[in-house]
Order: sequence, then C-alpha cells, then structure tokens
Amino acid sequence: MKKYLLALDQGTTSSRAIIFDKSGQIISMAQKEFEQIYPKPGWVEHDAKEIWSSQMSVMIEAAAKKDISFDDVDSIGITNQRETTIVWDRLTGEPVYNAIVWQCRRTSGMIDDLVDKGYTELIREKTGLIPDAYFSASKIAWILENVAGARKKANEGQLAFGTVDTWLLWKLTGGRIHATDYTNASRTMLFNIHKLEWDEELLDLFDIPRSMLPEVRPSSGIFGYVSSVPGITNIPIAGIAGDQQAALFGQCCFSKGEVKSTYGTGCFLLMNTGNEPVKSNNGLLTTIAAGTSGEILYALEGSVFVAGASIQWLRDGLGLISSTKESYDSAIKVEDTNEMYIVPAFAGMGAPYWNQDARGMVVGLTRGVSKDHFVRAVLESIAYQCYDLLKAMEEDVDIKIDTLKVDGGASANDFLMQFQSDILDCDVDRPGCIETTALGAAYLSGLATGFYQSKEDIKGNWQLGNRFNPRIDDSKRQNLIKGWKKAVRSALFWAQNEE
Ligand code: ADP
Repeated sequence: MKKYLLALDQGTTSSRAIIFDKSGQIISMAQKEFEQIYPKPGWVEHDAKEIWSSQMSVMIEAAAKKDISFDDVDSIGITNQRETTIVWDRLTGEPVYNAIVWQCRRTSGMIDDLVDKGYTELIREKTGLIPDAYFSASKIAWILENVAGARKKANEGQLAFGTVDTWLLWKLTGGRIHATDYTNASRTMLFNIHKLEWDEELLDLFDIPRSMLPEVRPSSGIFGYVSSVPGITNIPIAGIAGDQQAALFGQCCFSKGEVKSTYGTGCFLLMNTGNEPVKSNNGLLTTIAAGTSGEILYALEGSVFVAGASIQWLRDGLGLISSTKESYDSAIKVEDTNEMYIVPAFAGMGAPYWNQDARGMVVGLTRGVSKDHFVRAVLESIAYQCYDLLKAMEEDVDIKIDTLKVDGGASANDFLMQFQSDILDCDVDRPGCIETTALGAAYLSGLATGFYQSKEDIKGNWQLGNRFNPRIDDSKRQNLIKGWKKAVRSALFWAQNEE
C-alpha cells in the first residue's frame, strides 16, 4: 500500500505542491511564486511555460525536502486557478500566446456586445454563468482573433485549448492526454451544465472550433499517467477540480445544503445543491461541484470581490496596521464600530447587488471614531458581505444554513470568525487543516485509485480546529444588519448618475 497523495495546487500567484498522508496531514509542501504580467491596464497574463516549470519544480522539491520517494506516492490530484486560458500548438507543444488570466478584462467589450444583443439568458440557461470576461470563452476568441496565424491553425485542428489543469495534465503525460474535468469545463462559458457537453451554439457564438476543446471527464478518475518527469513513472493523475470546487470537496461538503466560505483576497462561498442545478434569483452562479465517478453534483457560488484585500489596504494603503494579523488586535480593543460602517465596494458590488459603478463608502463618522473602530468596521464588512451571499443562497434553495465551514488566510482571524457567526446566527467551523483546496484534489485522486474506499472514509479525516457559536441576541443582530443595509444603499446611491 502506498503512503502518500500528491496535490498540485496551481494558484494565481504561486504554484504549490503538498504531500498528504492518508489521514490528510501535511507531510511536505513547497511553493514558488511566478511572474504576473500586466501588458496594459486591466490586462493580466502568465507565462504558461513558467506555470509548468514552477509546478514541476515544487513537485520535486516537496518530495526531496522530506526524502519522499515517488514510489510511495499513490496518485496526483490537480487543483487550479479557474478560467485562465491557454492555447497551444499540438505539434510543437508551444503556447501560441501567454495564459490569459481570469482577472483580465481585455474582452469586456466583447461581452458587453453579447449582452446588448440579448444573449444573457441563453448563456445563463446553458452554462449557469452570468456573461463576463472572467470566463474562458471570450479569452479563447480573443487569441484566435489577435494572434497571427492562430485562426488558420485552429481551423486545421492544430491548436488545443485548456484551462490550467488541462495544460498541466497535457505536460505531465507528455502530450498524450488532452482532458479536463466537469468543474473546470463549467467555468469556460462553453459547457452545457445540464447536458454535460460542449455547447455547439455557444461555440458558434464565440467562433471557436470544436477540435480545440479537451475531453471532459468526472473530477475523480484516472486521467492519465505521468510520463514526462524524470524519476517519476506511472503515477496516475486521478483527480482534477477547479480551486473553489476542490475546497468544497476538501471541506467534506458532500451533502446537499453544505456550504464553505474561503476567506482570501476575495471570498468564495459555494453550496452543494445536490443532483439538481439551482437557478439563482439573486444573481449567484450555478456551477458543477466536484463529485466522484458517475455522480454529478451542482453548486451555487457567490463571491465577495474585496475581502482580505481590504485588510491589505488598511496595512499598505492607509498604514493603520503594520500586519494583517494586527487587524485582530486592533478590532478587539473596541466594543463595536461606534455605529460606523465601511462598504469596501472598491470595484463595484457583486451578488446580490450587482452594480459595477458602486464605490466604497464610509458612513456614520463621528468625532468618537478611532483607528480601531475603523479597522473593526473593515473586518466586519467582510462578514456582512458573506452574510448577504449566504442569505441569497438560503433563499434560492429554501434551506436554513446551520453551519458554515471556513478556510483561507483571513479565516485565521478569530474576531472575524466570531463576528461572522454572530451575524449569521449559525456555527462557523474552522478545520484543523485549512489547506482544503489541495486536500480536496488529493481526496478526489485517492478516491479514484482505491487509496480511500469511500467518501465516508474521508469524512473521518475532517477535524474541527475551532467552532464559533453565535453570542449576540437577535435584536442586536437585526440592528447591525439594518445599519449595513443602509450603508450599502449609500454606496449604490453614489453610483447613480447625477440629474
Ligand atoms: P489568496 O489565496 O487569495 O492569496 P490567502 O488565503 O493566502 O489568499 O489569504 C490572504 C488574504 O488574507 C490577504 O488578503 C490577507 O489580507 C488576509 N489575511 C491573512 N491573515 C489575516 C488575518 N489574520 N486577519 C485578517 N486578514 C488576514
């Protein structure tokens, strides 16, 4: 019996490799940052070859650090930054252009055109997504239109498209396997999440040849075997999922109604909605969750654009704290925010408000407001934004959520987690291991090879680190929420055109 699972966690700013044992404990980890390329304002690219080389080097480093032999590695799971788009030449293996990163706004005009032409509902119906430059479709179209010779090669079947998982799989298998999983496919805006196939009508709309697209497979299953890395032979790559879906799986949210929230730069909330896709009435996205073979699970997804980023702003922009950790010390020095609210709508507001012109707002300032009140109000704003998303989810699925599982860098802040629990009036559970994204990929992989027998087997690994219970009474909660809603209305009012 092999001892370990290897997770490749290819993120937006770094590539990481984590080796887990069967109980889900981290045995070794290596991480490498890579270059962020900003060719123009609003454009973001990565060098696809650097994504691969950094990923390969951390994989070797993680094993070498603890003298782990690859013979003891059962299998590899991949999790990745979603939507980022790579197009390469099947013959030479060369990318025809840099990877266009999910954050890149270069195709927003193309999306505006489609929205103006009335395609929003069609896209929503088929893909569960709200048309946006964020997703892969318009990025592929941009490459075909703007890279010399790309359209011709694509029409001749010589080009391959992949999200980052597909690119890594292709590289790891020496160009033998061109495939992706349901979760990544569901973020391209080309995949019909009901029929589980690439959608011909959307391919026509974006003028993308079918031949470029990878085969789509379940997230847990043997995709191929490593053949291109010296010293590693025949290890199966047996799990793939986009980062947020992998985290949902790593948090063991296997049942309908289970939710996780990841507090990073932004915040991502995903709820497992079971075998049926739920169409949101509140502007949430419908997407495919990672499942095991033969099982299709759906999720509702909402995101907060500015979460941990607002803590960095307190540190770097305003200089109110010297480290993100200090936000905790500052917040607990005061009892409340002195009835002041901050809405960090630095880049508009997402679900359930959807207003891209909204801007940040500070309301309720009085002479009594101190630096600590200010820091506390920013931390609280993260919790209020998650509250809004969770309430939207509850409404869409008609379930009252009683536990929220949390992870991500800012989930380390006990004040934030306690306030989240107070405002939501539900338990907030932080696991012992908050590397849930990598863990999810490892679990998917281990389930496919028989390293784990069942999801129940895995569930036994999930260990509670801390549980935060609601500690305020309902009238106080309702008052705080009322103030927040008023502050949000101010931010939205600011966005209105002057008469
Ligand atoms: P990402 O994966 O998006 O880079 P991480 O999960 O690494 O994010 O979390 C980093 C984010 O968490 C940063 O935006 C940082 O401001 C925030 N953060 C980290 N530690 C704390 C803390 N103790 N309190 C509040 N925010 C924190």
